[in-house]
Amino acid sequence: MAISQKLSEKPRILIVGGGYVGLTVAQKLQKKVKAEGGVVTLVDPLPYMTYQPFLPEVVGGHIEARHAVISHRKHLRDTEVITGKVTDVDHSARTASVELEDGESIEIPYQDVILAAGATTRTFPIEGLAEQGIGLKTIEEALTLRNQILDRIEAASTMTDEKAKARALAFTVVGGGFAGIECIAEMEDIIRAAVAANPRLSQSDVRIVLVEAMGRIMPEVSEDQAVGVVEHLRGRGIEVLLNTSLGSAVDGELQLINMADKSEADRFESDTLVWTAGVAANAVARRSSFPIDERGRITASATLQIVDEEGRSIEGAWTAGDVAAVPDLTGAGPGGFCVPNAQHALRQSKQLVKNLLAARFGEGKISEYKHDSLGAVAGLGLFKGVGNPMGVKLKGVPAWMAHRGYHGMAIPTVERKVRVASNWINEFIFGRDITPLRDLETPRRQFEEAATPAKKKADA
Ligand SMILES: Cc1cc2nc3c(=O)[nH]c(=O)nc-3n(C[C@H](O)[C@H](O)[C@H](O)COP(=O)(O)OP(=O)(O)OC[C@H]3O[C@@H](n4cnc5c(N)ncnc54)[C@H](O)[C@@H]3O)c2cc1C
Repeated sequence: MAISQKLSEKPRILIVGGGYVGLTVAQKLQKKVKAEGGVVTLVDPLPYMTYQPFLPEVVGGHIEARHAVISHRKHLRDTEVITGKVTDVDHSARTASVELEDGESIEIPYQDVILAAGATTRTFPIEGLAEQGIGLKTIEEALTLRNQILDRIEAASTMTDEKAKARALAFTVVGGGFAGIECIAEMEDIIRAAVAANPRLSQSDVRIVLVEAMGRIMPEVSEDQAVGVVEHLRGRGIEVLLNTSLGSAVDGELQLINMADKSEADRFESDTLVWTAGVAANAVARRSSFPIDERGRITASATLQIVDEEGRSIEGAWTAGDVAAVPDLTGAGPGGFCVPNAQHALRQSKQLVKNLLAARFGEGKISEYKHDSLGAVAGLGLFKGVGNPMGVKLKGVPAWMAHRGYHGMAIPTVERKVRVASNWINEFIFGRDITPLRDLETPRRQFEEAATPAKKKADA
């Protein structure tokens, strides 16, 4: 039987993307819609929601990779979950095209659609970047990065070629936003721990570099706090290069460019290159029949309804989170729009659910989304942090505790909160885990070797 014949025939609310917005909205709508005789359908190429604020902690080894993601199937029992990629949304026909895992394509009809496909890493055409770099948007990237760091350190400790050793022990992050700073701080912590545990290496063998094209880092915190973080990172031996960009990365040889006069600022080899220099709205926005703004985001009103070129709400079309240009009614957002972060994604989701219930079932009334930022807190490795929660400037241990406290509570589902907390307790008792996992990309290597007859091996 084709999958399309297995789909529910009830009136459908279709959610495109099961990330922060998609999971929250599905959780809050599923029972009500079921009771009203409809169905909530969630489509995502991944079978889980990724709690992205914990990706740096996965790199640092504080949280198990699986514990930073939330299973759709387990936590959305009253939702029709489809693992697949939405390739097109035709709102005039009220259908979405979905590419399933095995390559089959299906059309899913709907009554209401919620576009919540988030953002993807934004890159520039820099030679060698696609081949050498890795982003920090997915759990797989965070896990691979952690393993790569530990693997390079172990390999370097037996290298006799000094150039190869320096390359293995050079770790570079491009992008000084929240994600990049949290990432390099966690990397520094785990690098130092792994090197300290290896008697063949010394800390002076390691080079850790942060490259930022602007004159400052972390636009989410005040200027003086950002300057304080730069000093803090430099104090830990991290080279923070401001007003500098990545010119090329061919074969792992990084060329850095001075932004002021476009001259070459540095050139060195680095096996590890992490790219965190920005995000862009998911391309599904461009492929849908809905209007987008100049940054590729779906145009929305403060009621979280998708709007046409004249600013009129389109019936049955909703959006929120990183894929959407939602007006920031507090006036604080750059360009008048909400910044792409989890704080807005979560609160917009709650407002969207209320408005959709009002529009579809006449429950309550449609209201505008308005949220004053609660500030931001960043973890900078164990017992270190910076932030301005509720406008109070914090650094060091209090900021780190605020970071863990907030995100430990914010990760969806009680089950995941408990698992994450138990990770932290385990680390507190047993210390940091610096075990790398090997052969994740070639897990059949050993078996293939064992199963290949000796003669065939000799012939080969
Ligand atoms: C490293 C890192 C650290 C961060 N730290 C913080 C922080 O400390 N505080 C904070 O407020 N914010 C933080 N953020 C930002 C925050 O995670 C995002 O703003 C938030 O996840 C946005 O929610 P969303 O639902 O719009 O998108 P996402 O959570 O990204 O979800 C989008 C979903 O859509 C799915 N999807 C993609 N394409 C398709 C398609 N074609 N069809 C169907 N589904 C699709 C994806 O698989 C994904 O599951 C961080 C982000 C990163 C990367």
